[in-house]
Amino acid sequence: MIPDWETERRRMVEEQLSKRGIRDERVLSAMNAIPREDFVVPEARLAAYFDEPVPIGCGQTISQPYMTALMAQSLELAGTETVLEVGAGCGYHAAVLGNLAARVISVEIIPALAELARRNLARAGLDHNVTVICGDGSLGYPGLAPYDAISVEAGAPEIPSALLAQLNDPGRLVIPVGERGEHELRVVWKRRGQIEHRVETLCRFVPLRFPRR
Ligand code: SAH
Repeated sequence: MIPDWETERRRMVEEQLSKRGIRDERVLSAMNAIPREDFVVPEARLAAYFDEPVPIGCGQTISQPYMTALMAQSLELAGTETVLEVGAGCGYHAAVLGNLAARVISVEIIPALAELARRNLARAGLDHNVTVICGDGSLGYPGLAPYDAISVEAGAPEIPSALLAQLNDPGRLVIPVGERGEHELRVVWKRRGQIEHRVETLCRFVPLRFPRR
């Protein structure tokens, strides 16, 4: 039986997001509107609203809905920003950011996933302000810098310096930092030339690749 996706989505927003403290109404309504089931691979469709990461092919996963919401909320987007995303994956998180900001540039290193993200965003009609670029996002995307916000969706041992350099002042960046499989989600802000951060939560992400090292 095909699930009633709207009901599944509403339940996810209530039980996994609102009840766990996601308060940004814009994040809640973006995630109530975007059809997550159309972004995951067909084999994983029935798991689209599970409270866990879901495979998207090429050994990668789409984050648990709560993690996407927490990361998006931590950027405190008002709707006017240009955002850089690193790790488009299937394009779902990019769609959420596109709903919350003026423009999103998303860099994905695996060509097949960059293509999947583009296709998913276009099919959902959410590609008007989201551009997916295939490349190494650990270097950022200097051509359109600076970015008011940067969302890194793969874990790194440290914050890539190119990303800090491409962050606007003021600007905010969110990134899982740590060793393989054990990360702290850091929210970083740049203000009057100073960099500060806080740790939002502990988490587990797929690794950010550094092919140019
Ligand atoms: N948020 C995504 C899933 C991210 S999974 C979604 O909504 O589907 C992490 C992604 O980061 C993977 O697709 C992986 O290929 C990508 N990635 C890893 N290293 C990268 C790099 N250096 N540059 C760009 N993308 C990278």
